[in-house]
Amino acid sequence: MTTQSAPLFTATVLGSPRIGPNRELKRAVEKYWSDRIGRAELDAVAATLRGDTLRQLADAGLDSIPVNTFSYYDHMLDQSVLLGTLPPRVAPVTDELDRYFAAARGGTYDGVDIAPLEMTKWFDTNYHYIVPEIGPDTTFMLNPAKILAELDEASSVGVALRPVIVGPITYLALSKAVGGADAPIGRLDELVGVYAELLELLADKGVGWVQIDEPVLVTDNVDNAGALAERVYSRLGGLAKRPAVFVATYFGELTDALPALARTPIEAIGVDLVYGGVDALSAVPALAGKTVVAGVVDGRNIWRTDLAAALDTLDTVTRAAGNVVVSTSCSTLHVPYSLERETGIDEALRSWLAFGAEKVTEVVALAKGFAQGRDAIAAEVETSNAAVASRRVDPRLNNADVRSRIAEIRSAGATNRGQAADRRAAQEARLNLPPLPTTTIGSYPQTTEIRVARADLRAGKIDDATYQQKMRDEVAAVIKLQEELDIDVLVHGEPERNDMVQYFAEQLEGFFATQNGWVQSYGSRCVRPPVLFGDVFRPAPMTVAWTSYAQSLTARPVKGMLTGPVTILAWSFVRDDQPLADTAAQVALAIRDETVDLERSGVAIIQVDEPALRELLPLRTRQKQEYLMWSVEAFRLATAGVRDDTQIHTHLCYSEFGEVIGAIADLDADVTSIEAARSHMEVLDDLNAVGFSNGVGPGVYDIHSPRVPNTDEMTTALREALAAVPAERLWVNPDCGLKTRKNDEVVESLRHMVEAAKTVRAER
Ligand code: GLN
Ligand code: ZN
Repeated sequence: MTTQSAPLFTATVLGSPRIGPNRELKRAVEKYWSDRIGRAELDAVAATLRGDTLRQLADAGLDSIPVNTFSYYDHMLDQSVLLGTLPPRVAPVTDELDRYFAAARGGTYDGVDIAPLEMTKWFDTNYHYIVPEIGPDTTFMLNPAKILAELDEASSVGVALRPVIVGPITYLALSKAVGGADAPIGRLDELVGVYAELLELLADKGVGWVQIDEPVLVTDNVDNAGALAERVYSRLGGLAKRPAVFVATYFGELTDALPALARTPIEAIGVDLVYGGVDALSAVPALAGKTVVAGVVDGRNIWRTDLAAALDTLDTVTRAAGNVVVSTSCSTLHVPYSLERETGIDEALRSWLAFGAEKVTEVVALAKGFAQGRDAIAAEVETSNAAVASRRVDPRLNNADVRSRIAEIRSAGATNRGQAADRRAAQEARLNLPPLPTTTIGSYPQTTEIRVARADLRAGKIDDATYQQKMRDEVAAVIKLQEELDIDVLVHGEPERNDMVQYFAEQLEGFFATQNGWVQSYGSRCVRPPVLFGDVFRPAPMTVAWTSYAQSLTARPVKGMLTGPVTILAWSFVRDDQPLADTAAQVALAIRDETVDLERSGVAIIQVDEPALRELLPLRTRQKQEYLMWSVEAFRLATAGVRDDTQIHTHLCYSEFGEVIGAIADLDADVTSIEAARSHMEVLDDLNAVGFSNGVGPGVYDIHSPRVPNTDEMTTALREALAAVPAERLWVNPDCGLKTRKNDEVVESLRHMVEAAKTVRAER
C-alpha cells in the first residue's frame, strides 16, 4: 500500500492497558517464571487478552486500532528486541522469550548469573521501562517477528490496524551508554536506517498507517529536538515505499519540534491537548497540509472528559490542521481497564470518572460530534455537562475549613520552624543520643504471616480485633528485635500498612480507594493508585495508636512514620480541577495534624517520607522552579506544626537527586536519610555544595539485594561519610525500608550495621 491509498481515520487511542482486566497477564507471566505453566499456556492467555482488547476497540467504533501495543513485560524492551540491541550478556539464553525475561529481570541460566538491564520511570508517569544499553559494539538489526505476528493475528478483525513503535529519537534519548560508548543519540542516523527498513517491510505487508511514538519531543531532555525531528522524519517521510506515518507525541506540549515535524513529509502529528495547549497549533501554517491527531481525552488520569470543552478544542484544531482525528492524549496503559468493575462508588463520584473503556467511548462520541455536529451527540454532551456541573458544586470538593486553615497557617508564617541550631540544641537535650545514632527507615519485613493475616481479614476469615492483635504482636516483636540489636532510634515496623500511600488514602477524606483499579507499574507489578477527588482532610488520627503502642514497649525513642504530601500525590490519581500545589497543601495539612497528635502522644521523632520528590519534577525546565517551590512548601507545611524539640526526619530514595538537591536542603528536615549505598556517598558532597547543614543518614547498605553486607564495608562507608560530614550530623541507617527483605537477612545486616557504627564511634 502506498501513502496515497492509506485511508484517513477519525477516532483512535494511542495504546491500551495490557495486563488484563483481572491482571490475567500478571498471573500467567508469574506462573511461567516459576515453571507452573508452560509457554503454550502463557501464549494462549496473551492471545486472548490481545483479541479481547482488539474486539473491544473495534466494537466501540474506533476506525484505526493500535497493534504491537501488547507486551510481556515492557514496550521499550520490545523495541530493543525489534532493533536487535539486547546486550551480549543475555545472548547465552537460547530461548527467545527467556532471553527477553532475562534482560528484564536477570537470573541464573546454566549456572551463569545474568544481571538485568536497569529500569527507570517512563517520563513523569508511574510506569517504569527497561533502559536500553548502547555499547561501543552494539549493532542495530531489524527483528520484526513480534510486530508481524501481532498484525497477522489481528488481521481478521476487519478494522484498519496501525502498528505502534517507539521512535528513534525517544529510543536513543532514553537509552544508556555503556562500556565507554558515547551518548546513544549520536547513533541516530544509523538507527534510522533500521526504521526505514521496517517501514518498507510494513508497506509490503499492506500496512496503511504506522504510529511512531516520540514523547521525548515534549521534554527538554534532548538538545536540538526540533532539528533532530526534522532530520529523522524528512528521511523516513521521503522513503519511496512506506505506510503513512503518524508521529505521536504526548505528556506535554511540543515547542520547536512542532513546526519541525510539520515541515517534513509525514502525514500525521499527534499532539497532547490535555497536558499541552491548543494555541500553538495556529502558529504553524504547515499543519494545514497535515492530519493532526488531537489528544483531547486524558489518557493518563481518570477524569471524565468535558465533551463540550473538548469539542471547542477540536474546533480550534480544525482551523490549523488539514484534517483532524480524535484521540486520547497518550496510551491508556496508565489507567485501569473499566469503571464497570468498580463497586462502592457513590453515583456523583462515578459520574466524574472515566477509565480505559470509558475513554474509548468518549473518543468515539467526540469524533461523531465533531463530524456531524453537536446535536448528533446531544445526550452524551448533556451527561457530560451534568457531571461537570455536579463536580463543581459538590461540597466534598470545597471544604471552607480546610481552605481557611491553610490560609491562616501561611499568613502566620507557620510553614517555617524555629532556627535549625535552636532545634538541634533542644532535640539533643531531649533525646540524648550517642554520636552516629543508628536507625532504620521504617518498615520491617512484610512476612508471609502478615500478608496472610491481611488476606484473611479481607476474606472475612478473621475479625478486625484478631487482625489488630496480630499486628500488635508483630510490632512488639520488632521493638524487641531492635532493642536486642541495640539500635538507638526505633520504629514500629509498619506491619499494618499495605502500601505507604494507600494506607493514608484509606483514612483521609477526599480520597477513594478503587477495588479493581490496577495499572501496570512495571513488568508484572501492578499498583492500585487511590483517587484523590476532593478537598483532603483527616477526620481522625491515623498512626498514633500504633506508634504510641510501640513507644509504650520501650524506653528508647520510637520514630513516628508518615508519608509526605508530594509522595501521596505522585502515587495517586489526582483531581485536575485545581493546581497540584493547592492539593498538595491540603494533603500537607492532614499530615501536619497527624504530626501534632503524634507529638502530643509523647513521640519525639517523626519521619515524613518523600521518596517521590523527584518524580513529579516537570518535563520542561521552565516549569521546574515552580514545582520545587510548592513541593518544598508542602513539606514544610506538613512538618512545621511541631515544637523545636521534636525531631523531624525525612527519607528520599529511588532517584538521581541532582536536580532536586537544593530542594532537599530547603525541606529543612532535622535529619534526612537518603539512598546512597550505590552512589558511594557522592550525595553528601552534593548536599554540602548546596549548603545543607542538618543531620543526614546516607544509606550504608543497599536493601534492594538479599546480600548481607559485612561490618567492614559499612565501617568503610561511615569513615568515608565522615570525610564529608562531621560526626554530630551523621546518622547510620540502611538506604530504604526493609519490607521486601527476609527476616534473617535483616537481622544479620542490622547487626553488622550497629557494629560498624560502634567501631567508628570508638575511633573518635
Ligand atoms: N518508611 C517507608 C518504609 O520503610 C519508606 C519506603 C520508601 O522509601 N519507599 O517502607
Ligand atoms: Zn526508600
